[in-house]
Amino acid sequence: MKLILLGAPGAGKGTQAEVICNELKIPAVSTGNMIREALSKGTEMGLKAKSFIDAGKLVPDEVVIGIIKDRLAKDDCANGFILDGFPRTIPQAEALDNMGIVIDRVVDIEVPDEKIASRLSGRRVCKDCGASYHLEYKAPKAEGKCDACGGELVQRKDDEPATVLDRLKVYHEQTEPLKDYYEKKGILRIVEGQEEVADTSALTLKALED
Ligand code: ADP
Ligand code: ZN
Repeated sequence: MKLILLGAPGAGKGTQAEVICNELKIPAVSTGNMIREALSKGTEMGLKAKSFIDAGKLVPDEVVIGIIKDRLAKDDCANGFILDGFPRTIPQAEALDNMGIVIDRVVDIEVPDEKIASRLSGRRVCKDCGASYHLEYKAPKAEGKCDACGGELVQRKDDEPATVLDRLKVYHEQTEPLKDYYEKKGILRIVEGQEEVADTSALTLKALED
């Protein structure tokens, strides 16, 4: 199964990608995580990406396309993968097509704009392993500490309210047109994001069946 998860920032793509990864045993590939990892390692690409991320803008297409090309060529992607956060623009989607990759399903997780701000302001990530939490929807067992590794939980700079509106604008202008792009191919399914993670997962897994 070659799957794309679409949705606004904070719609829960990353969380659902993890669930599907465990369920179907195919890797979840997150461009956001890969870029943040490069950033924390201080690579040249990471440094180049920093100003875009911090401003809530998209990293240039050629950079992310390069990252994704290398990643999807790895052995573990041979039987399928879940793309979380890629493609985010029409040229990125066209690049996937040009790589000869045939996507089976695109699931768009819809969450109204009014709910995005609170979802993002409550999000916390582990400084050490990058695991994602939410103060309300996915609280860690011990306050401020990562369940997986005990690392400190922090707020992403681009989750601060000032940047969130910019990210939403970018989403509507550049990413939302992908719904049409994949609708025309007949592979788009829409899932309404629920309050409970497990409820969204049930709907998402169902959307993969038909
Ligand atoms: P979210 O889905 O919550 O917005 P991500 O972790 O997917 O968070 O992305 C964070 C940031 O990383 C984006 O705002 C953008 O700057 C950059 N980024 C991630 N994926 C892409 C992509 N496919 N194209 C361009 N920029 C990207
Ligand atoms: Zn951790």
